[in-house]
Amino acid sequence: MNERIKSVCVVGGGSAGWLAAAVIAARHRQGHEDDLAVTLIESEAIGIIGVGEGTWPTMRNTLRKIGVSETDFFRECDVSFKQGAKFTRWVTGAEDDFYYHPLVLPEGFPSLDLASFWNHYAAGNEAVPSFSDAVCFQEAVCEGGLAPKLITTPEYGCVANYAYHLDAHKFAHFLRKHCIEKLGVRHVVDEVDDVVLDGKGDVAHLATHRNGPLAADLFVDCTGFHALLIGKALGVPFRSCQDVLFIDRALTVQVPYDTPDQEIPPYTISAAQSNGWIFDIGIQTRRGVGYVYSTAHTTKERAEADLAAHVGPAIEKLQPREIPIRSGHREIFWKGNCVAVGLSAGFLEPLEASALVLIELSVEMISAMLPATRDTMDITARRFNDVTRYRWDRIIDFLKLHYVLSKRTDSAFWEDNRDPATIPESLQEQLALWRYRAPGDQDFSSNSEMFPAASYQYVLFGMGFKMDLSERGYLVRDGVRAEEAFRRNAALKEKWTRSLPKNRQLIEKIREFGMQRV
Ligand SMILES: Cc1cc2nc3c(=O)[nH]c(=O)nc-3n(C[C@H](O)[C@H](O)[C@H](O)COP(=O)(O)OP(=O)(O)OC[C@H]3O[C@@H](n4cnc5c(N)ncnc54)[C@H](O)[C@@H]3O)c2cc1C
Repeated sequence: MNERIKSVCVVGGGSAGWLAAAVIAARHRQGHEDDLAVTLIESEAIGIIGVGEGTWPTMRNTLRKIGVSETDFFRECDVSFKQGAKFTRWVTGAEDDFYYHPLVLPEGFPSLDLASFWNHYAAGNEAVPSFSDAVCFQEAVCEGGLAPKLITTPEYGCVANYAYHLDAHKFAHFLRKHCIEKLGVRHVVDEVDDVVLDGKGDVAHLATHRNGPLAADLFVDCTGFHALLIGKALGVPFRSCQDVLFIDRALTVQVPYDTPDQEIPPYTISAAQSNGWIFDIGIQTRRGVGYVYSTAHTTKERAEADLAAHVGPAIEKLQPREIPIRSGHREIFWKGNCVAVGLSAGFLEPLEASALVLIELSVEMISAMLPATRDTMDITARRFNDVTRYRWDRIIDFLKLHYVLSKRTDSAFWEDNRDPATIPESLQEQLALWRYRAPGDQDFSSNSEMFPAASYQYVLFGMGFKMDLSERGYLVRDGVRAEEAFRRNAALKEKWTRSLPKNRQLIEKIREFGMQRV
């Protein structure tokens, strides 16, 4: 039991598997003979899910840490910039109903509570700009179809905070190449036929189809929805959250651009429908579009018709791919000497692109906390499970928030979403408090938070949540600073909408000339 941990085997070569291998190897393989051995086994026959194309800004840090050039990443994964999400028709369902969840924090956040001021000015005054527009310059940048940086801004640096849209297949290939060529990860292409446990319930080895037994001290289950180790072999139960989040099916298509120079929106579009919502993500070469919906509320035929209406005539040449979604996660994520990351750990609808970021956070934690010996592994596992469970709960709350504030009445889907019996108590409590004060850092005090209070503010006030403004001390306390912050935001809007390049224009320049390396 006291043996040192010398080898890690990652099972699965999707985004989760390669990110796990890359982050662990980048930290623990320093070119010494006794370095941790990192092996990744994947089945070519089974393949990867190949969707999951919207990321968080955290990906910039992850890529930088594993030693990837951002220019190469743009050139090889058809990457485009993402500066947040534009939610259309979530509030009333009307044609002109939209709001933004940008990636730049509100001016003065968190020391200044601009949200209360905005609520004060906006109460009964239609002329006041939307919350995100009033407190953040990024909405204007997005509406202008502009990039978040200049060609002179170095790799990973920014004018406006940004994440990426990418081609999931190309991303896995890109990471694979980097892992094998630069990080010394051993790559095995084979099927795992069986997972063999030892007498104590640990994974002893994997029985592979052509390469014999594959042993390791720690296994990372990245086998996607198969959950081969954590679910099938170790029997960790799945905890459904279908009673809170109803989405259980996706219909996806890849839509070609009408012309090669078509503008690429620098944000994800999340377009609410009668029984779910459609994601629309523009990368360099195409759009990735998917309708995620609730089969309890509509039929496949109706969902196909809604998707077709969104995509337009191009749909005639496309065959939508159907992906069942099981909303929920494992009861624990690390059992014995096996830890699950990615779809094997769980999945929720891709509303705020929370899957890849959770993979990044999980592999960073595994890598940083990598136990030295087997007998300290259970302590690490307990901590990992506590933090990861907390994160899943916060994601569930945040996703549900998007639904509970909608005023849509066009289907049972929206009505059912507002039924208090489907709203987690933790979210109900937050909403009760936020009637009287805007979400702030005091509401999110764990070191393991997923979404900052600013994200809650953007969704809450974007969805038309109204605060009770009878406490007005803030007007006196921070009045001058707030005025300055609103003016600063207006000036930033003016400056950056005049000087930032168009999204596609900058991407093409990056492809041709590259960014300044760091
Ligand atoms: C419709 C949809 C949209 C999404 N959009 C987003 C998004 O915008 N943003 C986001 O962050 N996430 C999104 N996701 C989630 C995202 O796709 C996944 O989190 C991500 O791709 C990671 O997948 P994975 O690596 O866990 O699994 P997979 O890609 O399925 O990889 C599983 C790997 O395990 C291997 N494997 C399985 N069984 C065996 C075996 N017996 N032997 C050997 N190998 C085996 C497979 O070959 C494969 O290599 C979306 C998901 C869906 C369904």
